[in-house]
Parts: sequence; structure tokens; C-alpha cells
Amino acid sequence: MLAIYEILYLISAICFIIGLRKLSDPRTARVGNLTAAFGMGLAILVSFVVPLEGDHNNYIWIIGSLLIGGVIGYMAALKVQMTGMPQLVSIFNGLGGGSAMLLAGTEFLKYVNSGNNNTIILFVIVFTAFVGAISFSGSILAYLKLDGKVKDKNVILPYHQVINVILLIVTIYFGYKTMETQSATDFMVFTILSLVYGISFVAPIGGADMPVVISLLNSITGISAAFAGFIYHSQIMILGGILVGASGTLLTLMMCNAMNRSIWNVIIGGFGSSSPKGSAGEKEDGVHQEATAQDVAIMANYAQKVLVVPGYGMAVSQAQKQAKELDELLAKNDVEVVYGIHPVAGRMPGHMNVILAEVDISYDKLLDLEDSNSMMDEVDLVLVVGANDVVNPAAVEDKSSNIYGMPVLEVWKAKQVIVFKRSMNPGYAGISNPLFFRPNTKMLFGDAGSSLKKIAEEVKNLN
Ligand code: NDP
Repeated sequence: MLAIYEILYLISAICFIIGLRKLSDPRTARVGNLTAAFGMGLAILVSFVVPLEGDHNNYIWIIGSLLIGGVIGYMAALKVQMTGMPQLVSIFNGLGGGSAMLLAGTEFLKYVNSGNNNTIILFVIVFTAFVGAISFSGSILAYLKLDGKVKDKNVILPYHQVINVILLIVTIYFGYKTMETQSATDFMVFTILSLVYGISFVAPIGGADMPVVISLLNSITGISAAFAGFIYHSQIMILGGILVGASGTLLTLMMCNAMNRSIWNVIIGGFGSSSPKGSAGEKEDGVHQEATAQDVAIMANYAQKVLVVPGYGMAVSQAQKQAKELDELLAKNDVEVVYGIHPVAGRMPGHMNVILAEVDISYDKLLDLEDSNSMMDEVDLVLVVGANDVVNPAAVEDKSSNIYGMPVLEVWKAKQVIVFKRSMNPGYAGISNPLFFRPNTKMLFGDAGSSLKKIAEEVKNLN
């Protein structure tokens, strides 16, 4: 018969699974998050009452750490801007890997002192240290890159991928040596090498690919947690770790698919690094046309169908509120407003869904990439609000472009396109966008939120 604590662990596991399922739809994501958090809270509580193995007198340490970690995590989550969310996820993820690494360190010492001869346990400990260390140091560098605190060109060495292979072989050798000698010094060297490998693994990956890398590191952290679960004979840790590992891997692959790239291309590519051709500051060639807020108000007011394409710039300028206001004004004039959501618009999967949900834009108005493209020729006006790479025609037309093959929103097929941005600078991938020079495209320069506000005022004046 199952003990009561096993039933409670089972309930936690079910909560994780239901939570993950609900996270896959914006309508149920909030409930999903709460359900999974409840499951985690329950699992922690039960682990208190039924300690895993070993010392039972560590409550002060555990409660102290929980309180400090909980307060820091809560404050960080309260303060973070939506645009900084990938950085926060990266730090949280790195800390998970770091704690798995430290657990492995303590368990290694315990193992050596206990005279235990179980090689499988020793392998699990060594592997947990390896994976946890990579996840920790890799996530910290991913955070620094995403936050712009470290530039790609400063951390990429000549023949970096060759160095990485050599480093990996040396690290694995020290892992093997640690298992042979069971020496604390070898374990230390092995862990330090794993930390260095984590940094070196992330270093050559381009800035625009950091969200993919974070998702990959997240799945690695899940695997390290699952292995730590083996050390403690904890089914809930194993299950939680496997769920994180599996969902992280799926998310990584889905992001790669959305960019039409393989995971190897992401890891080796250096795509979107801080200094590719056409990057920051370099202006694009060609002649563009400009529009005023009044021009756009007139076009929108007399259109039948308007497609809003949000991108990273909408999140930066927090323009979703003004977009909703304009949407409501146009709806009063029987203009149909829908939103074209690209799966990698912004800086994390679901970024656009989240910011539009913040202002209660109905989910029925959100169209995915395929649906948006299939009705593009019926669209009178496209408002590209702070998006750039995800509407770049080079992805379908220019074989030499490094985003060639990435599915994009084909807005140039609509009757008229207005691009809201502050300058002619490229998007995050650092490449020019021929859309800006198309005959049916006009630029509306300025902060997206202020521009939308001005358009809404003009629409009010027209009615
Ligand atoms: P981009 O980064 O391509 O472009 C954003 C645009 O917003 C810029 O051209 C910028 O122009 C403009 N902008 C910034 N601030 C403002 C503002 N305040 N007001 C108006 N405009 C502003 O964004 P996209 O969303 O189109 O593309 C996302 C990119 O991130 C893609 O390259 C994608 O591959 C990558 N990526 C995304 C992932 C995800 O999960 N979402 C994962 C991996 C990669 P300007 O500075 O001139 O204003």
C-alpha cells in the first residue's frame, strides 16, 4: 500500500503535468503556472515531513535558505520588466544547476568517507556535478550576453569550436580519473573544468540565439536535477527533473523549428552575434517613405481589415495599452483588427501573447503565423509595431541572407504596411530589412507607444 507521503508526491507530480499542459495555451497558462507552483510547494512541504535520507537536524539551514531564496526570488520577479524576463529565467536556471553541482560535491565527500563501492552512485554524482556546473556557468554567461553586459566579440576565441572539443575531452578524462582515484582534488579540478566548459560552450553562440540556449540549458538543469534525485532516491526529484528536461528539449527544438535552423546550427552558427555584417549602427541602403500619425489614422479609419504585428519594440515601449485603445476606437467604426503573432517575435516564446494578454486583448484576435499569412492579401493595412526580423522578406527571397528559410509574416503581400520604429537600425539578427524600401511600405519613426497614441487621437478627430 502507498504511504501517505507517496500519495502526496503523486499529487505533486500530477500538478506538474497538468500545469505543463495548461501552460501550452495562453488562456490557461496562468492557472497552469499556479497549479505547477502548488505542486512544487506541496512537494517541498512533504520533503520536510519525510526527509529524504541522512541528517534530520538541518531544519534551520533549510528554512533559512528557503526564506532568503524565496524573498530574493519574489523581489526579483516583482521588479523585472517583461523585456528582462529571459535574463531572469537564465539566472534562476543557472542557480538550479549550481545547486545540483553543490549537492554533488557534498555527496561526493560523503560517498568517499562512507567507503561505499557502488560505481553507479559514483557515476551519478560525477555526472550531476558535470551537468550542474555547465548549466550554472553557461546560464550566467547567457544572462550577461542577453543583458548586453558581455559582447560576443569579447568572448569568442579563434578556433573556438576546436577548443571546445578539446576542453570537453579533457573534462571527461578528469571525470573518469575522479571515479578511479576518488580524490577530492581530482573532483575539484573536474568541477572547475566543467564550469569553464559551460562558459566556453555558450561563448561562441550568437546573442540572438541566447533564448534558445537558455531553453537548452534549462533542459540540462532538469537532467541534473533528475540525476540528483537518483542520489537521494527521490522519485519526485527524478520526475520533476525529467519533466523539466523533456519540456526544455521540446521547447528548444520548437524554437529552432520556428527559425528553420537545426540545434547544431544554433550551437555552432554564431548567428546574431554582436558584430555580424550589417549590425548596429550600419544603415541600410535604399530609399524609404515616411508617414505621419495623421496619414496612418486615415488609412486605418477607412480600412476594413487591419493586421497588427507586434515585436520586441512593442514590449520595449510597452505599447500594448495604446494598441488596445486604437483597436477599440477602430472597432467602433467596424474596422476588423487582428494580431499576427510570430512564434519567435520578442525575446522569448510566447512573449507577444503575454504582453497582449496583459491588456486583455481577446485571444480570438490572435492569429498564428500560418493563419496570418494565408489571409494577407485580404489585409488593407499592416501595422508592424516594433517588429523587424520576423517580417523580413529576405528570409524568403534572399538565399545569401543568414535568416533565409526562417518562416516570417509576409506582410509585404498586404495592401499597405506601416513600420513603427525609432530609426533605420536593424533588428536583433543584425541584418538589413528590404521591407522598409518596398513601394507599399511607409515608416513611422518614434517610440511605438507615443506613435500609437497620436494615431488614436487623430482617429478620434476623424469621427
Ligand atoms: P527585432 O529585434 O528584430 O526588432 C525589434 C525592432 O523594434 C527593432 O527594429 C527596433 O528598431 C524596434 N524598437 C525597439 N524599441 C522600440 C520602441 N521603443 N519603439 C518602436 N520601435 C522599437 O524583433 P522581432 O520581434 O521582429 O524579432 C525577434 C528576434 O529575436 C528574431 O531575430 C528572433 O529570431 C530572435 N529570437 C527570438 C526568440 C524568441 O523566443 N522570441 C528566441 C530566439 C531568438 P529601432 O531600434 O530602430 O527602434
